[in-house]
This record gives sequence, C-alpha cells and structure tokens, in this order.
Amino acid sequence: MTSKMAATDMEFAALIDLSARIGTDPALVQGPGGNTSLKRDGTMWIKASGTWLSQARERSIMVGVALGPLLGALDRNDPACESGAQFVVAEANSAGLRPSIETTMHAALPHAVVLHVHCVETIAWAVRSDAQAQLEQRLHGFDWCLVPYVRPGLPLTQLIRQRLRADTTVLILANHGLVVGGPSVAAAASTLSAVVARLRRLARIAPIADVDALEALAAGSGYRLPERMAVHSTATDAQSLAIAQKGSLYPDHVVFLGPGVFVLQADETLAQALHRARQEMRGDPALLLVPGKGALVRRSAPPAAEAIAGCLADVLMRLSPEEPICTLSSVDEAAIINWDAEQYRRALARGAG
Ligand SMILES: [Zn+2]
Repeated sequence: MTSKMAATDMEFAALIDLSARIGTDPALVQGPGGNTSLKRDGTMWIKASGTWLSQARERSIMVGVALGPLLGALDRNDPACESGAQFVVAEANSAGLRPSIETTMHAALPHAVVLHVHCVETIAWAVRSDAQAQLEQRLHGFDWCLVPYVRPGLPLTQLIRQRLRADTTVLILANHGLVVGGPSVAAAASTLSAVVARLRRLARIAPIADVDALEALAAGSGYRLPERMAVHSTATDAQSLAIAQKGSLYPDHVVFLGPGVFVLQADETLAQALHRARQEMRGDPALLLVPGKGALVRRSAPPAAEAIAGCLADVLMRLSPEEPICTLSSVDEAAIINWDAEQYRRALARGAG
C-alpha cells in the first residue's frame, strides 16, 4: 500500500468514526437525517439515502458516486442528478444503496470533506426571518453564508452554487440546518464544533409530563408514550406549543411527522381526535400533542418519527413566540411530500420500523 493510499484510508476511517459520533448526538442528527461525504480520486463517498449516520460503524452506509459526471450533470441542471442513482460507482456499492437525497449539495462544495447536520442550535437561529443579522454577530471570523429556504435536492444545490464564495466553509441553510466543509475530517469536525458552540442558545426547562393522564388516554389505542421524555415539552410547555402551531419549521418535520402538528382539543377523547384527523385528511398523526399533559407517538410510526419529534421539542425550547419565526408554506410542504426521493426515504423508514 502506498503512503497516499494509507493516508486516504485513514481519512475514510476517520469519517466513519465522526459520522457515528455525530449520528448518535440528537442535538446534531435525528434518525436518517444529516449526511457526511469524502471526495478522493474522482469518487465522492456519501451517506446512502435512508441509512442512519449512527450506524456508520456497524454497517456499510457509504456509497461511491463518480464526481466528474455528476458535476457535469449539475452544470446542465440535468434532473438525473436529483436521485444520483446513475452516478453510483457500481463496484463500490455491493449493498445496492442509493445516494443521499442531498448528494448534489455535497458535490457542489469544493471541500474534500463535507458534513451536513440538522443541528438544533443552528435551526433555532435559521428559522428566524432576521437570521442574517443574528448570525453576523455570532459567526464573526468564519467565512459563512446564509442560504434562503428552498426545497432540498437540486433547487437547494443550485442556490448554494450561486451563493458560495471561494473561501466559504460554513453554510447556514434557512429552515433546515448546517453544512461545514474542510480539507480533512479533522478540520471539518473542528469547524463544526466551533460553529455549534457559537450558536448555542439557552433552552427552557419543560414542565413535567402527566404520564398517568397520557397512559389513560392511550390505553388500548395505537398510541404510546415517547421513549425520550424531552419529546413531551412541545405539549407541556405553553410557549413551545404556541410556536409549534404556527406551522412546520423544517423539511424532516414534514417528511416524518406530516405538515404542522396535531393537537388534542379540550374534552376530546383520543378516538374523537383521530376521527377529526381523518376528516382533516391527516390520517393517523405520528405525533399527537395533549396540551399541558405531553405527547403520544403512533405505535406504527417508524423510529425516525420519534427522533424528529425530539428535534422539534429541542428547537422549540430555544425559541419564544415573540421571535420573528418563518414556517414552511403549504407549497413548500407539498413540494417535500410529493418529491420522489422523499417517498423513497419514507419507504425505507417504514421498512426499518
Ligand atoms: Zn438536510
């Protein structure tokens, strides 16, 4: 083995290690969200769609794509780069994986290593209409840029290409998350922790959930209490509940919880609430909020749904209803729900459930 090969293999191992580490931190990554990549010798190794970064050490989650042809297709705005499937290096994909729906975003960045996370601290700033001014104070010294919200995939990648400057290493994606790039895994990891430290916000302490009331409500139903206590705060904390009812804050919310939130009304039984949900064409909501009591999660919902509900709770506990908060429009929500790539990711999540 040449010394160059040994060095790059060490980089690959370092990326897997970092992926597993950020994948198990719910403040950075929830469920199958977030992705990491490494470019070397014309191939970009990127997390596969629907896989979890947290599983990086246990299973093969990385798929190789041919970078040159993908960038060529991106220049032509070829819709084939959306799924990325035709750019997969077959001999580097024995598991038959499909590249992340955010593959083009990684390809468009010049850095050898790119990390993308749905960081709770970042989202809590990136949902504000005055995010640019707020972030200017906090990200002083970084070469960063704020990218306005557009649907992830090709539209977001093309917008990033317009905004990107030669030295940009930090992208804040409005109503979405954080991207950092660097020449090595160590450099990107260090930028990631430095940015997250700058963006840290104080979270309120949530009133405790009424577990007895929730258990009584859910008895004999298709709903259960969440495993993570923090999920309850969206329903027990009045400020969080008020903001949650304004609308969906980011794409994975819409993908795994459906648009907006579903709240049990006063004196309504669970059966009555579910009847109302069906009449409102929501189906059985993955997350059901009981004001002042806590949250219930649909038993048949994939594990990703509870992970995303946890992210929602964590973001909301950092926001107050007086802040200028942007939510996704119904057009934005529909664009996410009807997107082929997301339907694939939801199908994988159901399989994992
Ligand atoms: Zn994302």
